[in-house]
Amino acid sequence: MVEPTVSECLPLQYSNQVVRILLQALEDVLGPSGVNAVLNLAQLRHLIRSYPPNTPELTFSSAEMQAILRSLDEMYGPRAGRGLALRTGRACFKYGLKEYGAEWNLTELGFRLQPLNPKVKSAVTACAEFYEKYIGRPVELNDEDNRLVWRMAACPECAGRQAAEPCCHLAVGLLQEAAYWASNGKNFEVEEVSCVAGGYPVCTVVLDKRPLD
Ligand SMILES: [Zn+2]
Repeated sequence: MVEPTVSECLPLQYSNQVVRILLQALEDVLGPSGVNAVLNLAQLRHLIRSYPPNTPELTFSSAEMQAILRSLDEMYGPRAGRGLALRTGRACFKYGLKEYGAEWNLTELGFRLQPLNPKVKSAVTACAEFYEKYIGRPVELNDEDNRLVWRMAACPECAGRQAAEPCCHLAVGLLQEAAYWASNGKNFEVEEVSCVAGGYPVCTVVLDKRPLD
């Protein structure tokens, strides 16, 4: 078998930090035994009670990431898996903020003094920059009237999947929590309206900028 070169592997790999955030978030939602079961099913037993360190090395393949996400669906079924993935996406924002909040300029006075909509946009923009910098997947983010529209041609979540319904729930949960946090606790409608797994060229997640409450 020919070993792939580093340059071929790089776009497909995830850093220790990214996988650490995901596993911490999963533990919040499923508890330690739930995460252990997911890792067991994903054939990633070496990570049980031994999460990757908080370092930037790219050591995880796209296939390993997919195995974790698929296991969530297999264990809990698509419907419950969806709810759990949404909550996990929300928890990912929390752990990401803890690690990267200062880098994202989300903890500065200048950010906090902004009005509601620019604050929500700043938090969502930080998420887009995180995808680009730490996951190597560019996000096109557009401000369109009452909506923030997030488009990913190279979505890390549904790569290689086929699904009748949009299935990038981590991204939806991440944006829900970014907007919730930035607005001091308001809820926003966030929906994935097209998904690569459903045959569309891009995954499109739409956030309605008008809070629900
Ligand atoms: Zn996707």
